[in-house]
Amino acid sequence: MRVDLKSMTMEELSAYIKSCGQPAFRAKQIFRWLHRGVRRFDEMTDLPKAFQQKLEQEAYITTLRQFERYRSSIDDTVKYLFELPDHHLIETVAMKYNHGYSLCISSQIGCRMGCAFCQSTKNGLVRSLNAGEILDQVLKAQEDLGERISNIVMMGIGEPMDNFDEVIRFLKNVNDPEGINIGYRHISLSTCGVVPGIMKLAEHEFPITLSISLHGTTDEARSATMPINRKYNLQSLLEACRKYQEATGRRISFEYAVIEGINDRYEDAKRLASLLKGLLAHVNLIPVNPIEKGRFKPPKRGAVMAFQQQLTDLGLNATIRRTLGSDISASCGQLRHKHLEKEVDHHENYR
Ligand code: SAH
Repeated sequence: MRVDLKSMTMEELSAYIKSCGQPAFRAKQIFRWLHRGVRRFDEMTDLPKAFQQKLEQEAYITTLRQFERYRSSIDDTVKYLFELPDHHLIETVAMKYNHGYSLCISSQIGCRMGCAFCQSTKNGLVRSLNAGEILDQVLKAQEDLGERISNIVMMGIGEPMDNFDEVIRFLKNVNDPEGINIGYRHISLSTCGVVPGIMKLAEHEFPITLSISLHGTTDEARSATMPINRKYNLQSLLEACRKYQEATGRRISFEYAVIEGINDRYEDAKRLASLLKGLLAHVNLIPVNPIEKGRFKPPKRGAVMAFQQQLTDLGLNATIRRTLGSDISASCGQLRHKHLEKEVDHHENYR
């Protein structure tokens, strides 16, 4: 079987180069080409021809194909549907901020976490992405935008902790000074609350920002929409957050999708404040994006602002997430879902 070079860390690539009987410096040469977006061995002009040919036979370079691209006419958000080598589709979103582009990337095709409000999980998990496929989202977006990506958020399709090893490889690679070189402080990783994953990530001590999708303030409420809470309850989740903070010293971000009449009452604000007591935390309020008619409605803007004010008065640091790309279905999983539906229609036409 041919080996996937783009998924290898520098260390792994060095070991592979050694096994080919090549001098050690070739690993750095290849790593640099790969991470500059070169996708053919004959373009790696500082490698001997014979070695290029050997790589051609023994290795491959994971490449995504831009399947569709949408640019928001409201803001500069760009949403990509990328096609993987096995023809599945994933989403990547580039959001323009004053400091540059922030890229929201996917870690899996679909998701098996089953959160009730989330589109990405509706059709279950197809498979996890490998590190090269995660990385190529960044390379492809940079190529298309003609600009460097300055921040990464792992908040696209999938649960990063359910694809732990490949996500770790990706983090090391995207941070590598010989590669794209994005500082860990410019990377966020979001989880629905897979406690063992949080503990393992803490061991790596990467100074990335950990984001926790909280969305509820009691076990009962959280378990009703997030099945993961039945396995790892709020107490164990917050305990893991404390340990993570001790290990990394980093502030933790808590995502809170505000749902009218469900988690936006004053009791919720009070419970949230008591849950996060003693943690260096930031609460990111997201008016819920309704994926089905009737269920999970966002509160009116004024009510979200009032909830934010309550949290602030209780001593929490809370902001309301800016809505970007609302005209291009930029929320996680929406485009892929639309596409899957189109495929079903298409299929049915042929019956
Ligand atoms: N699986 C990870 C990564 C996905 S991040 C996680 O759960 O954190 C995507 C974020 O968007 C998560 O915080 C998720 O809970 C949130 N989200 C999903 N569907 C949403 C919706 N309909 N409205 C608002 N936020 C939503």
